[in-house]
Amino acid sequence: MKPFKYLSLFLFSFIGLNGNAQNQEKDILSTFHTISSHDLLNDAAELTSAKYGGRLSGSPGYQAAAEWVANQLKKAGVKPGLSDGTYLQYFPNAYSDVLSTGSVILLEGGNNMRKEYQFPEDYFPGSNSASGNVSGEVVYVGFGISAPELGYDDYKNIDVKGKILLMETGLPFSGKDSLQRWEPYSYHRYKFQQAKKMGAAGLLYIGKIANPNTSYLEGFVYAHISETVVEDLFNGTGRNYAEIHNGIKKGVLPNSFAMNKKVEISASTKHFPDSRSCNVIGMIEGSDPVLKSEAIILGAHLDAVGSPGCLFPGALDNASGSVDILAAAKALAASGVKPARTVIFVFFGGEECGLFGSTKMVESPVWPKEKVLCMINLDMVGNGTGFHISNGKTYPELFKTFADANEKYLHRELNSSEYRVNYGRPRTDAAVFDKAGYRTLSLGTTVTVKTVYYHHPLDNTDALTPEIMEDAAKLLYLGVLGLANEKMIRAE
Ligand SMILES: [Zn+2]
Repeated sequence: MKPFKYLSLFLFSFIGLNGNAQNQEKDILSTFHTISSHDLLNDAAELTSAKYGGRLSGSPGYQAAAEWVANQLKKAGVKPGLSDGTYLQYFPNAYSDVLSTGSVILLEGGNNMRKEYQFPEDYFPGSNSASGNVSGEVVYVGFGISAPELGYDDYKNIDVKGKILLMETGLPFSGKDSLQRWEPYSYHRYKFQQAKKMGAAGLLYIGKIANPNTSYLEGFVYAHISETVVEDLFNGTGRNYAEIHNGIKKGVLPNSFAMNKKVEISASTKHFPDSRSCNVIGMIEGSDPVLKSEAIILGAHLDAVGSPGCLFPGALDNASGSVDILAAAKALAASGVKPARTVIFVFFGGEECGLFGSTKMVESPVWPKEKVLCMINLDMVGNGTGFHISNGKTYPELFKTFADANEKYLHRELNSSEYRVNYGRPRTDAAVFDKAGYRTLSLGTTVTVKTVYYHHPLDNTDALTPEIMEDAAKLLYLGVLGLANEKMIRAE
């Protein structure tokens, strides 16, 4: 958390209105009314279309989507955000193409009949699985963690050589207090590397969520599986899955065992270890000779999870946030009332691969950190009826213009929350900025009205509520303009 050095108790100016207040309001509102759910939905349809292949960071499809966004910014008169006059900030980003749905088969044995599981109902192929075919005995290894300094080892006294592991994501407890010490073990990449190191042939990862934030390991084949598959594997072991899972968490006690089942996993992939990806960065230079040295950063991740088996369109996650920001950028560029501060728009790449894009941006900033008023992040802002701004209670000076705009023109339910220290691994681009010492706000939606298909083939434009996207873009436009023109606060 980064406090303001200068706090004002009297923030009376809405959008920095003064003198010609009524004319200014007219100018602001005429642009405000050009923001339409129709355009937002069109832009979301563009980004989620098959030609971008699900925008997997590092892939040609993502690159094409990034170029489309850069072109939109250019057409709107938003300038390139990099000092060399370009929009694209590159960083290394290995990725894998998943070439088929692969297969997961429970082989005959014990009281089991052979069972071929179905894509996408029962499993998703691993986004970074090696190509090939592995089969073997299944061993349940809990959370797949060897942490001697924490007195915890899921691999203790269990032979996993040449076996297929059944493994949980996350950490073996629910309390939050010791997250810091466990953080290194919470990464999928750690778990995969540890499994390979212990000699496992393959992995069934519990939870049917496509995820490119994993390691490609030579010869290591894996898939993400549903509860149905987990239940089948537990069936006949004399153990109950929920009891075992909860027992490990309750006591932080490993409970690994051989399941006396055989499975076969196959996958067909192509790995590109030397690929690169990019952030798209645009900028509207401030109009005030003094305040223009300060910037507000608006960010959303543009990348999604690609096409592991079929197209995963990534509409809510996060074409929604991307097009919300794009619409706000267009409105701010067209507005008759100019932002006094500089506004920077960033469409992050590599978020789904492990927050690569936001990490690149804090390591190679396009604006001096001490001159950034705040960073505002949008992730999955396209399904609901209300808004939530996290950290809004910690930064009332920042929150106020959004609350004012909402009250005056949007009339949505708007909540905010206090800043909370994140001891675990950062999971959003906002958390990366937060750790680097920026003030951050995250705009989200509340009261979900449609089913959320998280990292799923059905996360398409039907999963969106365009009306909330229109209002999110309007809220951003008014709120950011208000912040950009607020003279009572300073970045430093
Ligand atoms: Zn996301």
